[in-house]
This record gives sequence, C-alpha cells and structure tokens, in this order.
Amino acid sequence: MQSVMVSRQIRDRMTENLASSAVIEIRDLHKSYGDLEVLKGVSLTAPRGHVVSLIGSSGSGKSTLLRCCNLLENSHQGEILFGGAPVRWKGQGRGRVPADRAQVTKMRTQLAMVFQQFNLWSHMTILQNVIEAPVTVLGQPKAEVEARARALLDKVGIGDKAEAWPGQLSGGQQQRAAIARALCMEPRALLFDEPTSALDPELQQEVVRVIKDLAAEHRTMILVTHDMRLARDVSDHVVFLHQGRIEEEGPPDQVFGAPNTDRLRQFLSATL
Ligand code: ADP
Ligand code: MG
Repeated sequence: MQSVMVSRQIRDRMTENLASSAVIEIRDLHKSYGDLEVLKGVSLTAPRGHVVSLIGSSGSGKSTLLRCCNLLENSHQGEILFGGAPVRWKGQGRGRVPADRAQVTKMRTQLAMVFQQFNLWSHMTILQNVIEAPVTVLGQPKAEVEARARALLDKVGIGDKAEAWPGQLSGGQQQRAAIARALCMEPRALLFDEPTSALDPELQQEVVRVIKDLAAEHRTMILVTHDMRLARDVSDHVVFLHQGRIEEEGPPDQVFGAPNTDRLRQFLSATL
C-alpha cells in the first residue's frame, strides 16, 4: 500500500506540469441509439501520463463512451479533442460525422483499444496479430515492427508464444497478446474495456499485473473496469457513470473511501 502511495506521489509530481496537456478531452458529449439517449452530456479529460478509470453499472454507457473517444462510434453533440485538436464535424446533430478521414484514422490508431473478448484474429499467429496493423495500416517496415513486437511479447510475459495460434493460449495469455498488439501501435493512449471480465479469477491477476506495470510507466489510459481494487490501485482519477451521466468523480481515495452520493455508495456496496 505504502509503495503505491509513494509511486503515486512521484507520478503526481512528474505529471503536474502536464496537467493541461490532455491526450483526449471530451466536452458535454451526447449519444443516442434510436430513442435511447445513452450519453447525456459527459465531459472527461485524460491528461498525458494519467490513468482515468470509468466505473458504473452494466448499461450505464461506459463502453459507448470509450468507443466515442476514438471515433469507433458516432456522437451527436459535444466536442472531442485529441491532443488539443478538436474533431471537425460535417452535418449536425444525429446527422453529424467526422469531416476528416485522416483524423479518424489517426485517432483510431493512436487511441488503441483492448477489448473484453481479446478479439485476436484466430487465423494468425500471435506475432502476426501483433505486427498486422503497424505494418498494414501504418506502413512500417516489417523487420522493425517484428523486433518491437517480440520485445513487447517478452514484456507481457509471453515471448515464447510468438509462433502459437490464439486458440492455443489461455484467456489471460490471449489478453496479454492483445495488450502487446495495442502497444505495438505506439499509441498516445490505451483504452481498456473490461480487460479482465472474461477471465477466470486466477487468470485476471496476470492481466492486472501488466496493467499495473503500464500505469507505473505513466502510460495514458482510460480503463473501464469491474475490478474496484484495480481501479483504486492504478487510477489518478475515477469517474462513476450512472445512466449516461457522471454521477460522481474524483481521486480514488475519495471515490472509494468517501463517496458523496447515495448512488455511488449503493454501487460500491453491491460490487465489493
Ligand atoms: P456499459 O458498457 O456501461 O455496460 P454500454 O455503453 O454498452 O454500457 O450501453 C449503454 C446502453 O446503450 C445500454 O442500454 C445498451 O443496451 C445500449 N446500447 C449499446 N450499444 C448499442 C447498440 N449498438 N445499439 C443499440 N443500443 C445499444
Ligand atoms: Mg461495456
């Protein structure tokens, strides 16, 4: 516990001057599916080097918010800024779409996502999975990407699985491969959507370990998680989403130690 506190203090000092340099910032975002308004004016900032966790009940809009951040999903109102540059739109309201394809590609590649179900390509080896996008989307030299990929697989503890097929790996190993794949894009931020939820408890810990290592390296992350201990340990800021609105947010000690709203208290007592 003490080491977590100390490392957080060091990180705060290292990053306080960067607080204004948000990798991703969302202002008053709205999104509906048909008649269902899923995001009702959400604002969120992920400063460089910080971990922001999103918690909330199933259906509260966490995945939608994450997908809106990297433009996998359209939003209808509000602003999204990437590295300070606002997304440019054409059209209005439900008809609006990003105006600039190059900006969309840039954001999708630089805000790399890790999904609950890993989403590895089953017909490719682990190494092929990791090198695919940097080679084909970013056009980087294959030998260079492959060297980086092997180092990343070592880093997440599955260097010996480079030539294996996804189906030959455990869920925890597959998720670590998916994290290596995201890192191989050299993204400006990582977006995690419930990365441990599909795993048996004993396999969750190997993925938690990797996420903690990335937090200790001051990677910028937005982490959607059911794992309140993980959120408490790694986050600089925790956001509690309830029915498409931010009900409460703050530093982890406050959100978990002294929640202000009944809804957050209820949510926490139901999950702990
Ligand atoms: P969470 O990740 O917090 O569980 P989601 O963002 O997945 O929540 O979903 C928020 C709400 O939006 C839910 O009511 C869900 O049923 C609805 N929803 C999500 N995706 C779609 C979709 N593609 N089409 C219609 N409704 C959706
Ligand atoms: Mg979800």
